[in-house]
Amino acid sequence: MTLIRRSLLAAAFAAVAAPAMAQAYPTRTVTIIVPFAAGGPTDAVARLIAEAMGRDLGQTVVVENVGGAGGTIGADRVAKARPDGYTVLLHHIGMATIPTLYRRLPYEPVNAFAPIGLVSPVPMTVIARKDHPAANFQELIAWIREKKEDVNLGNAGLGAASQLCGTLLQFLLQTPVTTVPFRGTGPAMTELLGGRIDVMCDQTTNTTEQIRAGAVKAYAVTVPSRLAALPDVPTTAEVGMPDLAVTIWHGLYAPRGTPAPVIERLSRALQVALRDDKVVSRFAELGTTPEPQERATPDAHRAHWMAEIAKWRPVLQAANQFAD
Ligand code: ASP
Repeated sequence: MTLIRRSLLAAAFAAVAAPAMAQAYPTRTVTIIVPFAAGGPTDAVARLIAEAMGRDLGQTVVVENVGGAGGTIGADRVAKARPDGYTVLLHHIGMATIPTLYRRLPYEPVNAFAPIGLVSPVPMTVIARKDHPAANFQELIAWIREKKEDVNLGNAGLGAASQLCGTLLQFLLQTPVTTVPFRGTGPAMTELLGGRIDVMCDQTTNTTEQIRAGAVKAYAVTVPSRLAALPDVPTTAEVGMPDLAVTIWHGLYAPRGTPAPVIERLSRALQVALRDDKVVSRFAELGTTPEPQERATPDAHRAHWMAEIAKWRPVLQAANQFAD
């Protein structure tokens, strides 16, 4: 067979194979990689939607935790996965801060991925160990200013939401503290509960139940309005620090090169999952809400992602924290 005939045949095969593949997809288990430890805030979001997406896709959707290096190890795994829709990434605002924070990465932080849809915006809470002496936010910041490097602030590494919020706090206070990185804020929470770290800024999907149980102290939420799930916790604006404002949006990504019909199928399954009664009610208990259908789409996701990269770049450059 000549080379030309062979490539014509290959092109013809690709044209019929793509829709057929999408029709058949998925025929086996789909894996959602969470780039942080199990039992943390992003894991909580992923497990809820995985179950509901699995029902719509007619296949099991499993969550695999690939934590470390602020979420870049898990993202790298998906960037290099086969683009067939069986390995996807659930990541958060870190996808918008990592392109600025890391001057060198083993993958292309934007071009390696195809957005599928936005999942949920999660507020953050400023919390401290249960026996912390500060009775309110003002006392907490006075304590941080006094103790400086003696303050142990937990986070999930450079690129994590907890790092972004902690960096903002230090920048606004002009007070560097000691940061203690973990593979996720799930393990960091264990240390906070044990009193081995002092303070953390973490997502409500990890903190709401601990706050309500009185296992940690909460000082502020980082969004403009108080949360129904935590009505007694004031906003950062109420306590005089309106610039400590951050919402941790989550999105689902496939490796770049995943066929468009497969992306569309995943996006539809995500939209169905976000209307699922169990997902909606559990999200509400955890202080978050599912994104509406029109935002759980590749286009809305890409637009938000690009806007967030542009929004955070100058802020992070001013805070001057980089990884090489
Ligand atoms: N989302 C991370 C986790 O699930 C924590 C973080 O970003 O701060 O552990």
